Amino acid sequence: MNSQPLLFLRVMSGEAGVTAGRASAVPADPPAPRVCRRPAGVYNPFVLTEGFQPGDVISYTAMCSAIGVNLQRGMNFRLRGSDSIILMSVRPGAPYADRVEDEGKILIYEGHDCARTVNGPDPKQTDQPEYFPGGSLTQNGLFARAARRYKETGAPAERVRVYEKIRSGIWVCNGLFELIDCWTEEPAGRRVFKFKLRFAGTDGHRRPTVAPADLEDDRLIPSWVKLEVWKRDQGRCRVCGTTSGLHFDHIIPYSKGGSSKNPANIQILCGRHNLAKGDNIE
Ligand SMILES: [Zn+2]
Repeated sequence: MNSQPLLFLRVMSGEAGVTAGRASAVPADPPAPRVCRRPAGVYNPFVLTEGFQPGDVISYTAMCSAIGVNLQRGMNFRLRGSDSIILMSVRPGAPYADRVEDEGKILIYEGHDCARTVNGPDPKQTDQPEYFPGGSLTQNGLFARAARRYKETGAPAERVRVYEKIRSGIWVCNGLFELIDCWTEEPAGRRVFKFKLRFAGTDGHRRPTVAPADLEDDRLIPSWVKLEVWKRDQGRCRVCGTTSGLHFDHIIPYSKGGSSKNPANIQILCGRHNLAKGDNIE
């Protein structure tokens, strides 16, 4: 098993400096998500999201348009009745310990802390909440209930889209995952939720059945690798220098022994040059 510990920032802010954590910032049921500005009547989450493949680099605005809301928190259960969404972010010293295992097929995602309140307890010294004080389920509770349902009744696994912030305004689609397990740990005398997600491929709406072979080059690239490659390639296609339509590409495909964990084997390409390269392989 390959375990690459990754740390994620609690704040999943938008571009306007809005800050909020994985959980709602107030100890009550979360407010309805704010809706992105977009032309009326055009929104269709299935159409708009199906273009994203794992490794695609997208702007916050594009992500917001695809999802249909300005995301204010890391965990979003069945957003607007559609798939669930979780956001990951990497920054040094971040308080959440998420990790990628099994060559990028498994993501272990930590639940959210209780909200920080004036004169309230330190969230990092307090059990992560399953319920709000009023008795309704928190995001931890909603995801945990779905995981238990899958494990105990054989119900279909909850579909979870994973997006990762690699730096301000720059997000990467990590693809579609299935929520297959949930447990709690007590690393320092406090309860912490852990959610196990299994990589399910690209977009289930467009490609409902993903053959294992198709996943070979879609392995989740560890966050630190993405960040290093992004800096090295300066956020541009390595061939033509464009800054739009970018994708993290394996130079030697995973199926041919190329590593996802070695920055030297990962590069940034635009869609055109990614396709051109694909044609030259084999
Ligand atoms: Zn290019």
